Amino acid sequence: QQSRLPQIKTLDNFDFTFQPSLDEKRIRDVIAREFPRDAQNILFLGPPGVGKTHLALAITYEMIKKGYRALCLTSHEFLEKAKEAMEKGDTKRFVRMLTKTDILLLDEFGFEPMDSHSANLLLQIVAQRYERGSIIITSNRSVSEWAEIVGNAALATAILDRLLHHSKAFQIRGESYRLREKKKAGFVF
Ligand code: ADP
Ligand code: MG
Repeated sequence: QQSRLPQIKTLDNFDFTFQPSLDEKRIRDVIAREFPRDAQNILFLGPPGVGKTHLALAITYEMIKKGYRALCLTSHEFLEKAKEAMEKGDTKRFVRMLTKTDILLLDEFGFEPMDSHSANLLLQIVAQRYERGSIIITSNRSVSEWAEIVGNAALATAILDRLLHHSKAFQIRGESYRLREKKKAGFVF
């Protein structure tokens, strides 16, 4: 299976001066160390428009160039596919599909609440990938809100425990790049 990125975003196109809370060196370091090699997970957290998806796609792109395989899904796509798999009674295949790549990118985690079946599938995937494959998650919700998203505190703890053990988190506290462009055009004051 070929890696497919929804868009190509690169680090060279990312303006680090616009996002001073973000340490460019840490990002470059994650790439230089080839995070999938030791199954590191990467989290990009912060409000909308600060570049979470851009950075997630850019580091994934760098790894694809080095020969790693990646699967990218938005949380919405994850939930849709999980539901489809459950209806078909095909959840084993679903879990396998999301477990076998070097990198699984889950974009916009926490945007919609998860039903208990999907949350259970996510735990299976996170558990099977633990110390075997990387997960990249972007979210505008803080880790403390995960119990609410997942709908079950024990499940959230089980997922977070495995996800965070070997991980690097990037908390971005800044302005939306989208709004900056609108401001320049005079649409927002
Ligand atoms: P988020 O996922 O945090 O909501 P995105 O990564 O989708 O934000 O960024 C929104 C848009 O702005 C995208 O087109 C992205 O390429 C661009 N962008 C965001 N931050 C920067 C930046 N610092 N330099 C250049 N482009 C950026
Ligand atoms: Mg995004």
